[in-house]
Amino acid sequence: MTNITPFLEKAEKYHGHICSGQVLGIRMSLMALRLLDLKPEDNLRDLVIFLETDRCVADASHVVTGVTLGRRRVKVYGYGKTAMSFLDLKSGRAVRVHVTTSDRPPHDVPKQEQIAFWEKYADDDIFAWQEVHIDMPEGELPGPPVRVCTCAACGEDVLDCKEVLRDGKTYCRACADGAYYRPLEVCHD
Ligand SMILES: [Zn+2]
Ligand SMILES: [Zn+2]
Repeated sequence: MTNITPFLEKAEKYHGHICSGQVLGIRMSLMALRLLDLKPEDNLRDLVIFLETDRCVADASHVVTGVTLGRRRVKVYGYGKTAMSFLDLKSGRAVRVHVTTSDRPPHDVPKQEQIAFWEKYADDDIFAWQEVHIDMPEGELPGPPVRVCTCAACGEDVLDCKEVLRDGKTYCRACADGAYYRPLEVCHD
């Protein structure tokens, strides 16, 4: 098994603490890379990660791969599952890895105990994986925006094919379907 100590050191800085999520996330990421015949030290510019959680393991996948949200290489699905898929755009191959155990050390034990707790398990004891197919719509791909539209209601630009067509007009999702926020006052411009 790969020595995960260097990744744990990075994870402690990036995530702010060592927790089961860091250990699991590092090992899941290394497993997914291995299954795709990739290594953390490779140029991973063609890698896209699909996270099914925005909890601790999400940060660990960044620490191992360097893949970031702002480069359109991280897609977050709020499934609430400790699972992630890695897609290699170059080969088109993708694998999904998920955690199969609900065993966890107590949350407040010192980090050495957290780490030791997981050392007794082999990857096969705690993870399952499968090859999967992942469709990447044009608007989801890294690279320059495919198109930019302007919302007929709010006037803001909408990139990456995220616009909604209604009655022959183009809207942003917030105007078309309701937003996650509620304005408290007029927009200052
Ligand atoms: Zn954590
Ligand atoms: Zn709008």
